[in-house]
Amino acid sequence: MIMFKRYNRLPIELPKPEHADPNAAAAVQELLGGRFGEMSTLNNYLFQSFNFREKKKFKPFYDLVASITAEEVGHVELVANTVNLLLVGTTEPKDPDKKPLEKGKDSRNTYHFIDTAQTSKPFDSHGKPWTGDYVFNSGNLLLDLLHNFFLEIGARTHKMRVYEMTDNPVALEMIGYLLVRGGVHTVAYAKAIEKVTGIDLTKMLPIPSLDNEKFDYAKKYMQMGWHRRLYTWSDSDYEDIAKIWTGTHPDDGSEVEVVKGAPEGFPIPDLPEVKEEFAPGIDPDDFEKIYQRLKDAANIRD
Ligand code: MN
Ligand code: MN
Repeated sequence: MIMFKRYNRLPIELPKPEHADPNAAAAVQELLGGRFGEMSTLNNYLFQSFNFREKKKFKPFYDLVASITAEEVGHVELVANTVNLLLVGTTEPKDPDKKPLEKGKDSRNTYHFIDTAQTSKPFDSHGKPWTGDYVFNSGNLLLDLLHNFFLEIGARTHKMRVYEMTDNPVALEMIGYLLVRGGVHTVAYAKAIEKVTGIDLTKMLPIPSLDNEKFDYAKKYMQMGWHRRLYTWSDSDYEDIAKIWTGTHPDDGSEVEVVKGAPEGFPIPDLPEVKEEFAPGIDPDDFEKIYQRLKDAANIRD
């Protein structure tokens, strides 16, 4: 097994955006680079897995944190793609003296128009950068698991609130799926804590006390069984998560299931050129030259 392996896929299919929604994009940024966003869950588990002591002795717990890390990378990618899709079509090409980027001035996050070319960035809904200070890693196994349980609940709360801000199907599709997957992680950390202490924290769930079923876009993923499955996200490693992901799911009493590997996924949406942002900023003549150089380098003849 090598270090990290990347697939050019998203965990779900995001709908095609019907219209630009830059203020929804600004709100969704909280779920990417906010204190409880995907950058935080990713980096907490990433560093906890790097720094884990006695990995062999406590292998099921190491496997849990390490495998969920891999899922969180995919969540970061999913939220970033959502922000990007919500920004598509916000502006249109015009003569520079005709204010082609005027809508950026009146949108909540001007970084999306000045610093990036209408794409995501690891900052929160107010443009505050994500920071490594959001990573908690005490080295005490139980304390770190408790923190992760809390982190997933905080992340769930923020997702529920952003869900309540918008009816944009691109945002809701992403949040519906992530509510369900975050729910899996919350329950997984609760089960891990129960294996250590004998105390069943799932009895206090859900926090906030509203079932995922109450959110139409999450209900769909529950019906598909996404709440029951924990993946290893690896060809051959991290299989001892099966020692933690056992028994039933507190939401509906269904049997939980460990799946080796990763789900198949869906194509990554492509992004059109934004001429008024000079992105990607290569005109058709230049493209022809680049294409010719690539062909020459590969010894391809017409
Ligand atoms: Mn996540
Ligand atoms: Mn999570």
